[in-house]
Amino acid sequence: MSRTLFLAANWKMHSAPEGTFDPESPYKIQDSVDVVVFSTFLDLAACLQVGIEAGPQYGHAEASGPHTGDVSLKMCADLGCTYALCGHSDRRQKHGETDDMVAAQVKAALALRLHPVVCIGEKEEERDAGKQQEVVRRQMSVLPLEQNITIAYEPIWAISRGDPNKPAASTQDAQEMHAFIRSLLPDATRETMRLLYGGSMKPENAKELLSQPDIDGGLIGGASLKPDAFREIITIAQSL
Ligand code: PEP
Repeated sequence: MSRTLFLAANWKMHSAPEGTFDPESPYKIQDSVDVVVFSTFLDLAACLQVGIEAGPQYGHAEASGPHTGDVSLKMCADLGCTYALCGHSDRRQKHGETDDMVAAQVKAALALRLHPVVCIGEKEEERDAGKQQEVVRRQMSVLPLEQNITIAYEPIWAISRGDPNKPAASTQDAQEMHAFIRSLLPDATRETMRLLYGGSMKPENAKELLSQPDIDGGLIGGASLKPDAFREIITIAQSL
């Protein structure tokens, strides 16, 4: 079964890169590959206005309430977003998001007709201890996998954190984990659910990663902040 490749930009806590709102912006909807931008809350409206498919990097599961500093998924849906990033490792590690909190966000997103891109993946010490499968199995066990969601496998040790020389997971490691994740999906979604790889994807390694049978796209941080690099990854995806 062929699944349309899906490239999601995670701009993290960075403003929209120069050229984002230009007519030739690489962040706009493209031919034969799905492109979505996860921007800060502040850039969402401007992105949506120029035809960029944009969503929040996080949203509170409750519609409104006493949650100072938060923005709800409902507010993002009301703004016109159609996607939401859930459970990024930055949120799990720095904001104490648990598997259950992530699952609540995914369920709230689905109820609002937002398409959740849900991040899972192990830390370096978990990989060193050979626990990577156990970790993703636990993270997936609370998710509504029958539904219309996308999973992004991001081994935390491969995320660049701004270092352009950080190596990605090896293609073999990435494919192996994606195949394992796919094996955990129920029959109804095993062949249709898209699985993205995240962790130092860039033009230099995109072709090899995106050619793997169980890798259906990328969640791209550092390289998505460089319009030319992101455009190159799109071109590579379109050629596959
Ligand atoms: C990320 O933070 O989701 C990510 C994958 O970052 P990078 O591409 O920079 O490793």
